[in-house]
Amino acid sequence: MTTILEVEQLRTRFRTDNGVVSVVDGVDFSIRAGETLGVVGESGCGKSVTSLSIMRLLPPNGSSGGSIRFNGKNVLELSEKEMQTVRGNEIAMIFQEPMTSLNPLHTVGKQIEEAVMLHTKVSRAQAKERAIAMLKAVGMPRAEEIYGEFPHQLSGGMRQRVMIAMAMSCDPKLIIADEPTTALDVTIQAQILDLMRNLKEKTGTSIMLITHDLGVVAEMCDRVIVMYAGQVVEETDVETLFEDPKHPYTIGLMNSIPDLENEREYLETIPGSVPLAHQMPTGCRFAPRCTKAMPICEEKAPDLLQLEGHKCRCWLYAEEGEQA
Ligand code: SF4
Ligand code: MG
Repeated sequence: MTTILEVEQLRTRFRTDNGVVSVVDGVDFSIRAGETLGVVGESGCGKSVTSLSIMRLLPPNGSSGGSIRFNGKNVLELSEKEMQTVRGNEIAMIFQEPMTSLNPLHTVGKQIEEAVMLHTKVSRAQAKERAIAMLKAVGMPRAEEIYGEFPHQLSGGMRQRVMIAMAMSCDPKLIIADEPTTALDVTIQAQILDLMRNLKEKTGTSIMLITHDLGVVAEMCDRVIVMYAGQVVEETDVETLFEDPKHPYTIGLMNSIPDLENEREYLETIPGSVPLAHQMPTGCRFAPRCTKAMPICEEKAPDLLQLEGHKCRCWLYAEEGEQA
């Protein structure tokens, strides 16, 4: 399978009142054609910043180093003009709250139409046809009517379908979906995930799916990276992740999944919180929360190790692995 996105040693820094802080700190991963890669971790671990770095949509106080190769070209070296053709056309994004990315003053149909016209050379009439076809493709009943409606007239789930229609309308090679179903209730969430899976199967597009929800990962992903405090701490395929998680952070996340069969009343959440970027521990960044921490963990930061079928950043596996 060809690799369509290759991120190497990505570092994204922000100038803040506390000085320059690295929110993404040496991240490596790749996405193959047709693959869904899950990016998992609590909020504040750098997942969204990673995606904004790929799209070059950081706020003005942010900057990225390293390389982000998309289809062979380093997006960090493209001009803003070249980047505009990548955005939407080749890489599209879906966010958690569609209301913030949809324009409340325009009908949803017009917005999809504009997206189509911005990225492809078609007439207005053809763009409208495409917009209606996309609304149908994302399972909208009464697509012609919905075309003329405003975002506030639609439910949250319908708005997310509109966002997906807009993202898919230019046949992107990669869709970055950042918590696409987090704001939706469980039934609608399942429908949206089904829709994304079906569209992916039809079009062969790759998906980078950012989520804190391991249930979503189990349903959707082929491979997973787990991020903690701006770094990748584990990488493996989805079956291995659930059968044999290695990193204590991943294991902690697993234990926080609701287990309906065993009727556990409350979940074991990982005590403590993700360290702030300007207060990173010197050793393992997870050490203050880790039940397995050893003396070395606080002194020296572990490297990402290549284990069998896994990459894992943890001193527990120092004997088994080599530097990845
Ligand atoms: Fe825990 Fe040490 Fe592994 Fe960090 S390196 S996750 S503190 S055992
Ligand atoms: Mg986020």
